[in-house]
Amino acid sequence: MGHRGHVTCVTTLVVPRPRTMASLRHPRVRQEEGSETTIEWTRHANWRVIIGSKSGQIGFFFRCLRVPSLTFLFSLLLPYATLQGTELKKGVVTGDDYLAVLNHARANGYAIPAVNCTMSPIINSCLEAAKKANAPMIIQFSNGGGAYMAGKGLKNEADQKAAVMGCVAGALHVRALAEFYGVPVILHTDHCSKALLPWFDGLLEANEEYFAKHGEPLFSSHMLDLSEESIEENMEISAKYLKRMAAINCFLEVEIGITGGEEDGVDNTDANPEDLYSKPEEIHQVYQALNPVAPGMFSIAAAFGNVHGVYSPGNVKLTPPILKKGQEYIKEKEGLDTDKPVYFVFHGGSGSSREDIREAIGYGVIKMNIDTDTQWSFWDGVKDYVADKSPYLQGQIGNPDGPEKPNKKYYDPRMWIREAETYTCNRLLEAYEDLCAVDALSK
Ligand SMILES: [Zn+2]
Repeated sequence: MGHRGHVTCVTTLVVPRPRTMASLRHPRVRQEEGSETTIEWTRHANWRVIIGSKSGQIGFFFRCLRVPSLTFLFSLLLPYATLQGTELKKGVVTGDDYLAVLNHARANGYAIPAVNCTMSPIINSCLEAAKKANAPMIIQFSNGGGAYMAGKGLKNEADQKAAVMGCVAGALHVRALAEFYGVPVILHTDHCSKALLPWFDGLLEANEEYFAKHGEPLFSSHMLDLSEESIEENMEISAKYLKRMAAINCFLEVEIGITGGEEDGVDNTDANPEDLYSKPEEIHQVYQALNPVAPGMFSIAAAFGNVHGVYSPGNVKLTPPILKKGQEYIKEKEGLDTDKPVYFVFHGGSGSSREDIREAIGYGVIKMNIDTDTQWSFWDGVKDYVADKSPYLQGQIGNPDGPEKPNKKYYDPRMWIREAETYTCNRLLEAYEDLCAVDALSK
């Protein structure tokens, strides 16, 4: 095993001698050395077929147990001889692996959907969609979403403990599964206002604890939204937190200006229209405050007329060129040679036109939040199921096939929630299309 240090995830199939073929039906699965998983069909084999992968690269090679040098030769050459696709790490990504995903998106002109998750069926729909789209996924929890993940039987007190533990539980669910879906997954939390800072502190403590054990934070990134404060105070507090987060390779998203509409109990439906559009100087202020603390470890949710929720067309107009002006301003003021010095995040993506979304991606948007549209798809699946199966859902026994027929297989939650999941997965595949991210991992 010592010769495979360059292979981060290795699956070993031990091919038995003919008389032990029966043992193929009884594989032994062993987790060792962090992310390395070994599946052994027998311990008495002469040969092994090893399937190794590193950063999306797949290699197949034989291992002769009795000739270690041959193993060494194959393990060096063959994984790299059969390489295909991208270098991005699969499973939850943090630190440099996370930045590699963002830079891949920026370089290839796509953005990653960031979906607010409140329960495991929605998380699994996200993972399913990401696998089908062959693209990265951002799974995020809002404060209220985290509290819901913890269960409404627990009261979320001022210390935000329930919201913290719910987010941690959701993150651990994702971490247990993400690698099996074979795509990079980013774990993130959504808007955190000043009043909710105990939630943020609790999340950072969970990250620091995880970092001490595993050498990486539990979450890839978090959002701090102090846009209701002055931009000076916003940046002062954000810089302080970024310093703490950078020490454990955790990434920060900040917000300036105001995202209109209403989400998760924050109501900006009466916002001053001027505040719905960020100025280039304000975007530059974020760069000046945060880049010296942790270069490139932050993203900006700037206001460009985006609105949370889906409403009939009103007086707010999405204006992506605001983002373009921000990039140009920073490039000029800082004397940079890159056209997109900052990562932008698109809040309130639900209900936006494909043209607007793609224009925003052209100006450096690498993440688009989706909440309202997946809330609808989840419900839409249940709604159609109930309408379709109504005569089978009126009691435990008795349906159009006969008064004594049981209805168990119709009201089992796995039946109707599965419809919610399928509809949500399909809605997310549309989002991947909007975001030019279908088959992103082959780019
Ligand atoms: Zn938002």
